[in-house]
Amino acid sequence: MRIRNVDFRIIDLPLVRPFRTSFGTQVDRRILVAEVKTEEGFTGWSECVAMTEPLYSSEYLFECFDIIKRFFLPALFAKGEFRAEEIQSILAPFLGHPMAKATVETACLDAQLRSEKKSLASLLGAVKSKVECGVSVGIASSIPALVDEVTGYVEEGYRRIKLKIEPGWDIEPVGKVRELFPEIPLQVDANQAYQRSDGKHLAQLDQFNLLLIEQPLDEHDIVGHAKLAEVTKTPICLDESIISLQSAQDAIAMGATTVINIKPGRASGYLESQRIHDYCQSVSIPVWCGGMLETGIGRAANVALAALPGFTLP
Ligand code: MG
Repeated sequence: MRIRNVDFRIIDLPLVRPFRTSFGTQVDRRILVAEVKTEEGFTGWSECVAMTEPLYSSEYLFECFDIIKRFFLPALFAKGEFRAEEIQSILAPFLGHPMAKATVETACLDAQLRSEKKSLASLLGAVKSKVECGVSVGIASSIPALVDEVTGYVEEGYRRIKLKIEPGWDIEPVGKVRELFPEIPLQVDANQAYQRSDGKHLAQLDQFNLLLIEQPLDEHDIVGHAKLAEVTKTPICLDESIISLQSAQDAIAMGATTVINIKPGRASGYLESQRIHDYCQSVSIPVWCGGMLETGIGRAANVALAALPGFTLP
């Protein structure tokens, strides 16, 4: 393919309700949408999952917009003709910025797949036409408010409940939800809010038969997660730490994670995500596909990824 031009749109979507996690409260979602047009006459779309502020990850929306315009697109124009599979190596001289790279790769891949009349799902190796979906429940203002929200989601048919936790909002709210819904697949996400010394405290979650505890410690603290895994029975699942196949292999080798949340934006795109999936499947590590409050553009691609056989959790 050859890129003719790229249009960007920045849109603001108000959220249905404020979404509070251990790193902050969001009331709307500002999203960078990329539309790539090729010289061959095809169009591809993607959205950037970086947030407006660098709170969840070091990347943020306007930084992604800037690096794509200033460095990534000139490099691709200079290359001239390329395949979407080559984008990561073309952009490799530019360090980091997986979310910005994923934005470019995904839009180009979409255009390329349209030119080849192929779906992303078939390219990645999807084996299902439907996937089960869970919901992520933010930190609520009170336990009754949490119970109301969770009850609503269960009634709507979500197959798994994930509760955001932080110090001071963990054992009691999780226990209450488990008491009310003894059978529902339940997991928690700390978004790095705990310390290595919190192992005993987090082990109290073991009584609630959770699927996993997601990213309790700092994203760089792989050793800490491995130590934590020795004191909790609940499986540890890494999210923010998994930025590539290499990081997944290393974390698994160290015993820091026995389930992985694959987020394509954080892992430079869907092709690297597929490689992480394939490796995890080969070593019997279950994976699931995490969301970043995407619009339908990003969710459509996530659903394709989540239809791969190793995605055994909603
Ligand atoms: Mg997470």
